[in-house]
Amino acid sequence: MISVSDPTLLSTSLIRGLEEHFIAFHTDAEGFITYTNNNFLKVSEWTPKRVLGKSIWQMFSPEEDDQKIADAVWNKVTKQQNFFGDVKMMTRDGHSYYVTLLAIPILRSETTNESVLFLALDITSDVQLRKQLQQVAYLDYETGLMSRYKLETYMNEAIAKKDHFSCVYLRLDYHLHESTEEMADYEKDIIQKFANRLNRYFQDSPIARVGKNEFVVLTPFADWFIQGFLQFLEQQPIHVEQLSFHLTVSGGIARFPEDQQTFKQLLAAATEATNNVLRVGGNRIVSLSDDAHKRINRKAMIAQRLTEAIRKEELYVMFQPQYDIQTESINTYEALVRWDDAELGSITPDELIPIAEETGFIEELGTFVITEAAKLARRFQLENLPYTISINSSVREFLQSDMAQNVVSILQKEHCPASRIEIEITENFAFLAEEQLSITKQLLDLQQAGVTFTLDDFGTGYGSFRYLQTLPIKKVKIDQTFTQSLLTHPKTRKLVEGMIQLCHSLDLYVIVEGVENEQQAELLQSLGADSIQGYYVGTPIVKEEML
Ligand code: C2E
Ligand code: CA
Ligand code: CA
Repeated sequence: MISVSDPTLLSTSLIRGLEEHFIAFHTDAEGFITYTNNNFLKVSEWTPKRVLGKSIWQMFSPEEDDQKIADAVWNKVTKQQNFFGDVKMMTRDGHSYYVTLLAIPILRSETTNESVLFLALDITSDVQLRKQLQQVAYLDYETGLMSRYKLETYMNEAIAKKDHFSCVYLRLDYHLHESTEEMADYEKDIIQKFANRLNRYFQDSPIARVGKNEFVVLTPFADWFIQGFLQFLEQQPIHVEQLSFHLTVSGGIARFPEDQQTFKQLLAAATEATNNVLRVGGNRIVSLSDDAHKRINRKAMIAQRLTEAIRKEELYVMFQPQYDIQTESINTYEALVRWDDAELGSITPDELIPIAEETGFIEELGTFVITEAAKLARRFQLENLPYTISINSSVREFLQSDMAQNVVSILQKEHCPASRIEIEITENFAFLAEEQLSITKQLLDLQQAGVTFTLDDFGTGYGSFRYLQTLPIKKVKIDQTFTQSLLTHPKTRKLVEGMIQLCHSLDLYVIVEGVENEQQAELLQSLGADSIQGYYVGTPIVKEEML
């Protein structure tokens, strides 16, 4: 609080100072103007005669939003509180001006106002500057299209409103022979003309320039219409002086809400679709859904061709060695399925196995791999080679109540001793096995027959060590993600050491997979691992390379 010896002196000085520098007006308790200073008259273009008796609502534009602001100011003062903030007001001629406004209720009693004093500072030029700055940030000044920032705001608004629209990413490619200054002008000309074609074709759709030659259109139009832009460009070709050049447009369409849900996702998906088009020569606009359809088609094709693949010997098995640290020799080979299809190319197990599981083909695939493994193991036995073979299994296979019986019959048919075969199960598999007694029973039956089990991908599943005691597991394979960060993360090293110790305390043999270099191998040896597997020991090979 300001304190002076004579309060009347203070108030007269204060009033003089405010009068001089501020816009000031005064209303009665109902909001009718009873006084204004000259500054107010200048800014608001009112004459003193006419302004007196007008309400403060008349000092704002009649538009709903502006009247709400006047209401907000008034509500505050009727609650006997000061209002302070930036507001837009209106001159007598209907022009807008902006002020920082302080409205002070002058109290008659605790609940009623005697009058209200308004003090304001004109900030119109600041606001205009800010608007101009926003324009710079929001507009691409070469083409007049939206900037990326504006696009983001716009798209987020459309998403919030749940509008249906396509996010179309377009990339313009042209080849100018030289890169002189003149060419830079031509380039600008091409881009401007291209922007102009976009505006003409897509009419009211918002269009943004997001890179030098990259554009995004948001449009409710159907794919066929969007794709028609290429014909439109052919009919309305771009000429730049006498220059002849070749111009192509490649694009991708991602739809909201069908394909993706956020600005980032939509833009990324449309960009990816465009990149795919470019990879196969460009000059096309594809919809993401085309791509998605291709993926679905590919899945259907894989499923369809899978049955034939074994017969045509397109499916085969490779074997990857595991190295026993103590004996310094290879003791096991892991069977990994491979498929090279003439049309689909090579299909990785990570793509193949889930499809095989979904379509029920996993049992046939499993039978094929076990048969191949049994044949090879039998050869090892005949040639006095000490190797066992481990096979990956899917829980789907064990949901068949005759799985164990099938395995045993294959081994018998191939004259393969069961002790030469290990079956790898994952932690997620183990989790289910615990719940389904029939699975556990099959594992025990196989164990009885002489087959042993390895817990694969250890450390990535449900993280329970219980299976190690409840299921017939002999070996544990620590997942390769741990190996990857073993040398760089001290925590991983501690974790791996702990896992090895725990397994040893349960009499389990520990393999670590994904070992790619000598440092990893040495460190794992010092941590007590029993065996290592990975490219450092050997990549998967076909059986012909082994025998
Ligand atoms: P997995 O059982 O964890 O197999 C290890 C995967 O890592 C194999 O990939 C292998 O080629 C790869 N790998 C081996 N050494 C290294 C290394 O040093 N570094 C790196 N980065 N990778 C290495 P693959 O053959 O693509 O198999 C992928 C997955 O597919 C397997 O993971 C397994 O879960 C499954 N799978 C493979 N064959 C079969 C099968 O016959 N039946 C079933 N049910 N699943 C299979
Ligand atoms: Ca495995
Ligand atoms: Ca594994």
